[in-house]
Amino acid sequence: MDKAKRYNNIRLALDLGGTLLGWLFMFAIVLLGFSSWVEVIAFSVVSSPYLAFLTFAVIIGTVETTLFFPLSFYGGYILEHKYGLSNHTFRSYFWEKFKAFGVGLVIGLPVLLVFYYLLRTFPEIWWLYVGVFMFLVSIVLGRLAPTLIFPLFYKFKPIEDETLAAMIRERCGDAGMKVEGIFQFDMSKTTKKANAAFAGIGRSKRVILGDTLLEEFDHDEIDAVLAHELGHFEMKHLWKMMAVGTVFTFVGLYLVSVAYSFWIEKLGFEDITQLAALPLLTLLFGIYGFMSGPLQNAISRRHERQADRFSVEMRRDSSAMVRALEKLADQNLADRNPHPVVELLFHSHPSIEKRIAHLRAYPLKI
Ligand SMILES: [Zn+2]
Repeated sequence: MDKAKRYNNIRLALDLGGTLLGWLFMFAIVLLGFSSWVEVIAFSVVSSPYLAFLTFAVIIGTVETTLFFPLSFYGGYILEHKYGLSNHTFRSYFWEKFKAFGVGLVIGLPVLLVFYYLLRTFPEIWWLYVGVFMFLVSIVLGRLAPTLIFPLFYKFKPIEDETLAAMIRERCGDAGMKVEGIFQFDMSKTTKKANAAFAGIGRSKRVILGDTLLEEFDHDEIDAVLAHELGHFEMKHLWKMMAVGTVFTFVGLYLVSVAYSFWIEKLGFEDITQLAALPLLTLLFGIYGFMSGPLQNAISRRHERQADRFSVEMRRDSSAMVRALEKLADQNLADRNPHPVVELLFHSHPSIEKRIAHLRAYPLKI
């Protein structure tokens, strides 16, 4: 088996194993009474239900993170080094984890508090209010992430290559897209993998290019990748995905609320707001997210094919995009030809081999 396949198989096994173990953990702490015990501790420290909820969430979160640390360290550090994909030092890895934990607390705790407020205030239709709230949170995060969150992890600066900057500006202009800037960031600080994207929404929209990409790709290849991204923009894929995601969220929240109420009764909890029962809610959200993933991936793969086609049509050339995909596959150690079932269930992009075949087969109307 080739190196890329082995790497991707291990990664998949880790992801699936981690997901399954995470569910088992949530289920076990409820059934074995650990969550009831933490609830008692939380109320012995504070009396307000909201503070008790926060205490409960922090304790459960800490126990889970500690238990799962070996798995996450293996996947995030050891495996990446073993396959020559990481530029992290031991220190930089932990520093990044620490920052991510901090950001998680600052964003996560207020969101959790509002969630718990909605659960307590609207016990019958909490799912509807939570859905609206989550939608608003995703808009705010999409708007603020490039300016407030990304810079905590990477240094962004306007790209130095003037010729490339002018070329990108022209491309975006042709497609009628206003961007706030074209930035490069020090992706090589942590990884050898390459990436480029449009980030942000509304006025924070910008092009961001990893320095790893700028180093390895020539202008034609970067232009082809950019034209692919502009395809997503032209065909409004972001908005379509958000619309689909919103529908999925509401359906999911409703189904979860029904299943949760059923379990609350079966397991003899007082009501849906009882702290000890809340890990079940996490479990149900996890299961729903996992089950709805393949459908969202199918839509995403379709969008990717359309964006590839757009890139070829816009540039009247498929060779640069093919070269870019070859390079990306090498640099990111992608499995060029994953098992069809794996691709069907878990991949948001068609396999590199399929994309290249599709690009080559596309007739250019000159
Ligand atoms: Zn794409």
